[in-house]
Amino acid sequence: MKILVLNCGSSSIKYQFVETKDKTTLAKGQVERIGMSSAILTHQPINKDKIKIVGEILDHSIAIEYVIAVLLSPNHGVIKDKNEIEAVGHRVIHGGETFSGSVLITDAVMKALKDNIELAPLHNPPSIKGIEAAKAHLPNAPQCGVFDTSFHVKMPPRAYLYGIPLELYKRYKIRRYGFHGTSHRFVSQRASAMLNKPIEKLKIITCHLGNGSSIAAVDGGRSIDTTMGFTPLEGLVMGTRCGDMDPSVILYIMAKEGLTQAEANTLLNKHSGMIGLSGVSSDMRELEDAVMAGDKKAKDAFDVFCYRIKKYVGAYTAALGGLDAIVFTGGIGENSEMVRQAVCKDMGYLGIELNEELNQSRPGGEVDLSTSNSKVKVLKIPTNEELVIALDTEEIVEKGLSEVK
Ligand code: ADP
Repeated sequence: MKILVLNCGSSSIKYQFVETKDKTTLAKGQVERIGMSSAILTHQPINKDKIKIVGEILDHSIAIEYVIAVLLSPNHGVIKDKNEIEAVGHRVIHGGETFSGSVLITDAVMKALKDNIELAPLHNPPSIKGIEAAKAHLPNAPQCGVFDTSFHVKMPPRAYLYGIPLELYKRYKIRRYGFHGTSHRFVSQRASAMLNKPIEKLKIITCHLGNGSSIAAVDGGRSIDTTMGFTPLEGLVMGTRCGDMDPSVILYIMAKEGLTQAEANTLLNKHSGMIGLSGVSSDMRELEDAVMAGDKKAKDAFDVFCYRIKKYVGAYTAALGGLDAIVFTGGIGENSEMVRQAVCKDMGYLGIELNEELNQSRPGGEVDLSTSNSKVKVLKIPTNEELVIALDTEEIVEKGLSEVK
């Protein structure tokens, strides 16, 4: 089945056009600067040159019209007829407590998405716009929603409740939701395939490390805890986000610096984490270059990043009551041998032994990076969230389901 996968942000749309039969991406690209006079559409068809189109793209509806047009283009396209787009899969950040699996988008689902806007005021409105636009331009294609939160929704209360009055959870749905669920689900399933063991029998820690980073404890294929929380700000120290800290700190900074709530939000989300600590960059490659060049602040930021991951690996091993595999994925997890080495250093007492030579050699694809003696397997697995979205969409459409988990 040929499926258009859409990931709509406030001023950008990323897309992939996937053939699920052989799991290939026929074309991918993105529209950036939506709403500005010089929006940019970058389109990469399979086995052809990448192209860039600059023009005025005022809203998500026009952006999706452009995406469909470029997929149909005689020179750069990959289809001849709009109806070859058999279904559309949408990445939706926040499903709240409503969605514990991927769903066919119906009027009732649209209403539930709108009801959840308050939980993700920046992320869900563009998804809703994208769904409405895709429906308008592709009225014959079923639309499905795949949520970043749904893999984590069934965590036990001990993992999702915060230590605040329960009334606040009931009134405002303040709880740990967790994000990157599509990636954690995908790589834990791939780990089970690599280890040739049923996922029901495995205890896995999945580390999705990119610009945004999170870890999940996956027991028998289910997420039982994860580091991101009510929002993606909690947990690991990230490129620009602070991660865990004493909540009093922010109240103190707001008072001292006279910050508004919006300014405090920007400080914690955009100017903290590795960029805030190092003053060098939020980008791990640049940070590593600075570490190599002897930059002390960059080294401290790098150490803070890796130490926080190491602490969670210990914590989640305890939460899982044992560990079979640790998975590294995301731009950093897949590519940074320095981070993997720092996280796994001196973890032999937990049964984690990295094959340092193999790790240094930066092997591509899915690789077992542990020594043959290591009780816990250390796996590097490239994530593929778009493929998961396409496959969930295919399953819903082909089986005529309203939901898949
Ligand atoms: P996003 O969260 O935006 O999807 P990615 O998963 O693409 O992010 O990860 C981006 C991060 O991966 C950046 O910090 C980048 O520096 C890092 N990265 C990519 N390649 C390498 C590499 N070879 N070595 C170290 N870090 C890398």
